[in-house]
Amino acid sequence: MDSTRRTFLTTASVAAAQNVAHAQDHEHEHQAVPSDAALRVKALESLLVEKGLVDPAAIDLLVDRYEHKVGPRNGARVVARAWVDPAYKKRLLADAPSAIAELGFTSGQGEHTLVVENGPKIHNLIVCTLCSCYPWPVLGLPPVWYKSAAYRSRAVIDPRGVLREFGTQLDEDVEVRVWDSTAELRYIVLPERPAGTENLREEELAALVTRDAMVGVSKVPGPGSKA
Ligand code: FE
Repeated sequence: MDSTRRTFLTTASVAAAQNVAHAQDHEHEHQAVPSDAALRVKALESLLVEKGLVDPAAIDLLVDRYEHKVGPRNGARVVARAWVDPAYKKRLLADAPSAIAELGFTSGQGEHTLVVENGPKIHNLIVCTLCSCYPWPVLGLPPVWYKSAAYRSRAVIDPRGVLREFGTQLDEDVEVRVWDSTAELRYIVLPERPAGTENLREEELAALVTRDAMVGVSKVPGPGSKA
């Protein structure tokens, strides 16, 4: 390790330690030094831009796409279509990437997606125990809790406990199935259509579908209930 790098790391770790100590002293929250991963990403990005290997405008475009244009509303449209169109639902369960592409949502990563259906006696929950694999084309960027070590480990050890913390209480006779995502295979939950939605149109149904319901940590709230 050269001395510049060593000095940088020493300074960064001292600053991090001071920040932790400071945060423990105070009730209010501080923005500590950026996380290890954030620092590494930033360094990598600067290097690639400096060497002319990537165009910063292209990176901005990609980030904007996933932050603003791709998000759980895509998944909500897929779910609503499956609720109103049995033939679509059949295609979705048999070959999710094709059925999702019918609505114009495609993945640039080439991974497979599997839709797992909730029912009165089956509840599906999605996790990536290794890191944060997530069905980007239909759900956008994963929430922070999805990437947390606590969720990743506890979702498999104590799924019912995790569900309770999300306010989801399941009857004892409901089987909970936990699906561990990988880079090659991502999952999305097809939640149960709530009661009292028989007369709603597809767009109105889509508006009820939440991201959390498609990850499986909660159910889709009925019309008029507080999510
Ligand atoms: Fe992952």
